[in-house]
Amino acid sequence: MNKYKTIIIGAGPAGLFAAIHAAQAGGKVLLLEKMSSPGKKLLMSGSGRCNLTSGIDLRDFFKRYGTAERFIKPTLLEFSNEQLLDFFRERDIEFYTDKNSKVFPKSERAADILNVLIDECTRLSVDLRCESPVKSVDVRDGGFNVICRSEEYICDKLIITTGGKSYPTTGSDGDMYRIIEKLGHKIEPLSPALTAVLILDYPFAEIEGVSVPDARITIIRSGKKQKSHTGDILFTFKGLSGPGILDFSRDIFPGDQLNISFIGDVNEEAFRLQFIEAIAESAGKTMKNLLRAFGLPQSLNEKLLKLSSIPYDLKAAELNKKDRSKLIKALSACPLTVRELEGYNRAMTTRGGVSLKEVNPKTMESRIIPGLFFAGELLNIDGDTGGFNLQAAFSTGRMAGRNA
Ligand SMILES: Cc1cc2nc3c(=O)[nH]c(=O)nc-3n(C[C@H](O)[C@H](O)[C@H](O)COP(=O)(O)OP(=O)(O)OC[C@H]3O[C@@H](n4cnc5c(N)ncnc54)[C@H](O)[C@@H]3O)c2cc1C
Repeated sequence: MNKYKTIIIGAGPAGLFAAIHAAQAGGKVLLLEKMSSPGKKLLMSGSGRCNLTSGIDLRDFFKRYGTAERFIKPTLLEFSNEQLLDFFRERDIEFYTDKNSKVFPKSERAADILNVLIDECTRLSVDLRCESPVKSVDVRDGGFNVICRSEEYICDKLIITTGGKSYPTTGSDGDMYRIIEKLGHKIEPLSPALTAVLILDYPFAEIEGVSVPDARITIIRSGKKQKSHTGDILFTFKGLSGPGILDFSRDIFPGDQLNISFIGDVNEEAFRLQFIEAIAESAGKTMKNLLRAFGLPQSLNEKLLKLSSIPYDLKAAELNKKDRSKLIKALSACPLTVRELEGYNRAMTTRGGVSLKEVNPKTMESRIIPGLFFAGELLNIDGDTGGFNLQAAFSTGRMAGRNA
């Protein structure tokens, strides 16, 4: 009774899609889910609206996965963003693409995406069992023993799609990493990714909720410039968030100094000349009015003036050289020290996971244990914000399902 051709552990997007494609290929398929219902994280995606994928050209897709770029390429070439959308379009879901190329269902309901996946599993007779947390996996002659709380199952092929560690209340709490390590696979160091950063002696709590488009963020580590990135930032109560920070968070570590240029891609020296010129042209203006010309939120201007101890109503002509330098720095290279990255409770994805060196990128099969497959966020893949993580979960899930 408890023998299956394929067992999939974890019913998130990767697991549901793997189950659909394994069942399409034939044979009895069992999908085990720890929680009371599948796809809890998928339901939260895009604040419940589900940013399913990105509409950017496939050639630009690969580099949105950091060091996993080369690994993910064959998967995306085999099942692209357009093919993913077609799968859902064929099942009556319509989509729209926003100005940042993010693709959402027109209904803006992640539940519509999840329902398609569940219906398809039902249609293909996938045996979906919820409240079935897997506690151990053993390799046996030509197959696997999978043990839940009280049940034991046997299968020829096993696909593990248990996600990362972020938002553990959705079920993905990382309990399978230990079991996978016991099977002989390396887990690359884990940490929260796509997450806000908390800043030491944070000076911007008062302007929580204010955002700045196209800020330039430069990481300084041990006094050396590491990397820069441009994107929108959002001031939170304790630090920085917004797509510019979230996408860059995989490169940021506690103790790093972030130099933020609120005026975009201009270095401190180039901005100095620009600023001196602006003063010369508007000598009679108050500092508060002068700063308006740079297009930043007024509350940020006021905050930067305050931090530089410059009165709002000081005339531009009266600004002394020392204060001018302070303000130029605050605007174009504001130094903030990272206290820590927001933890798993708030991170959208997990950095690290099953080592890609031990997984075949053309099948998702383990290079160590034949018949064992991995897919989704459990792998050492974390993409940028904008639909790249769900696309990776679906593309790798499909590949694992088909090859199992
Ligand atoms: C708030 C939030 C918003 C997001 N929004 C977006 C977005 O709009 N676009 C985007 O691309 N990405 C988004 N992401 C990321 C995206 O949701 C994930 O990358 C994606 O869900 C990963 O899919 P997965 O199937 O690999 O894992 P998961 O979705 O995490 O699913 C894993 C499943 O495995 C189950 N499981 C775990 N351990 C066991 C076990 N021992 N036994 C049985 N079952 C187990 C879990 O309960 C879970 O159901 C968001 C993430 C968060 C947290």
